[in-house]
Amino acid sequence: MKIGFIGLGNMGGGMAANLAKAGHEVHAFDLSGEALARAGEAGCHPASEAAAAVNDMEAVVTMLPAGEHVRKVYEYEVVINGDPGTLVIDCSTIDVDSARDVATMAEAKGLVPVDAPVSGGIAAANGGTLTFMVGGSEEGFKRAEPILSDMGKAVIHAGANGAGQAAKICNNMLLGASMIATCETFKMAEKLGLDLQNFYDISSKASGQNWSMTSYCPVPGVGPQSPADNSYEGGFAAALMLKDLRLAMAAAESAGAEVPMGAKAQALYEQYAEAEGQGGMDFSGIINMLGKN
Ligand code: NAD
Repeated sequence: MKIGFIGLGNMGGGMAANLAKAGHEVHAFDLSGEALARAGEAGCHPASEAAAAVNDMEAVVTMLPAGEHVRKVYEYEVVINGDPGTLVIDCSTIDVDSARDVATMAEAKGLVPVDAPVSGGIAAANGGTLTFMVGGSEEGFKRAEPILSDMGKAVIHAGANGAGQAAKICNNMLLGASMIATCETFKMAEKLGLDLQNFYDISSKASGQNWSMTSYCPVPGVGPQSPADNSYEGGFAAALMLKDLRLAMAAAESAGAEVPMGAKAQALYEQYAEAEGQGGMDFSGIINMLGKN
């Protein structure tokens, strides 16, 4: 299949390479010459401008930093240059309102839009093991599924346009809050004199069990291998968790949802990632801030 790919950064670079590896003819574009050259080495056709990654394509995938970039690329490149019937898949993590707006814009031109944000980091993007949460029509989902399957291990239809982004930020709000709860619990267990491995053995089999504890334990040497065992490097950056929590707070406000735990998680990640300058650390590193006093 002839696929355009715009945004070849940490995530998009590996994703475009996996599409090429699966046998697609990938016309890739990025503002960065270095990213473009890497895509060429990975089997993609580097495009000289964004329009060349949209014209005559059966599908166009975007993987850009934020809503403002997606709006701009859709308005000035994808919608203007896309042929009617072209499937347009945005995999960036952006706000629900922008996702719905660009879908409306694309539909008005006869394009078939889906939002398909991902769960999984750079390793999953490189390894082709991402999970995609898809918002769009039945037709859009049916057409996007085989393409997304070439970049991931699970592709789930969440509902109409914008529903993929909504599912992603709801999931990540829960993850942010549950990571902080797990961190403060281990710090309290320590202060109460509990052996942390022993507490893990108990709580991981009791009602406190959760993903942040048993798949991504923030305590070094406890639970499965995680960024905690690598000095909190690699994994999912605290700055990206903060970005997702801010998107979640904006969505909660526009939907009129009450999210006190999400709001507290945002405030704490703001302190950790920005005030304390730890945005590049894995998000489980917040345990070190909670354990200071
Ligand atoms: P990144 O900053 O590494 O890559 C973004 C790329 O987009 C850059 O190469 C940049 O040059 C390019 N770009 C920006 N504007 C452009 C334009 N107008 N035309 C063409 N290219 C343009 O970001 P990333 O880490 O790859 O993340 C991409 C998206 O995936 C974000 O929305 C992020 O929140 C989401 N995400 C990231 C991770 C992660 O672990 N990095 C995990 C899940 C989701």
